[in-house]
Amino acid sequence: MNDSLPACPECSCVYTYSMGALLVCPECAHEWAPGSDPQRDESVIKDSVGNVLADGDTVTVVKDLKVKGSPTSIKVGTKVRNIRLVNGVGDHDIDCKVDGFGPMQLKSSVVKKV
Ligand SMILES: [Zn+2]
Repeated sequence: MNDSLPACPECSCVYTYSMGALLVCPECAHEWAPGSDPQRDESVIKDSVGNVLADGDTVTVVKDLKVKGSPTSIKVGTKVRNIRLVNGVGDHDIDCKVDGFGPMQLKSSVVKKV
C-alpha cells in the first residue's frame, strides 16, 4: 500500500488505490484523477495560462483593463509587483498596487506570472 496516495475526497477513506491514471476509493467506489480534486482546486489561484500564483509574485497584465474613475486604462504588459491573493469582490482574487493607479483588485484571469 502506497501511503502517499491522497484520501478519498468523498468519504475521507485513506485506503485509496490507483487504477491507471485514476484513484479509486474502496469504501464508496468514488473514482477521480489525482490533482483534479475540485475541493483542492478552490484554494489554488491560477493565472491566465494556468501557472499557480502565490503571495509576493510579480505578474504582468495580459489585456487592457479599464479602471473605474480613471481616464486611462491599465495597458497590456504592465508589471504588477508583490501581489496578494485574496477572496475579493466578485471573482477578483488578487490584491495589488499598480504603478500610476494605486491599490486595486484584479482577476487572476487577466494576469500572467513573470
Ligand atoms: Zn470514498
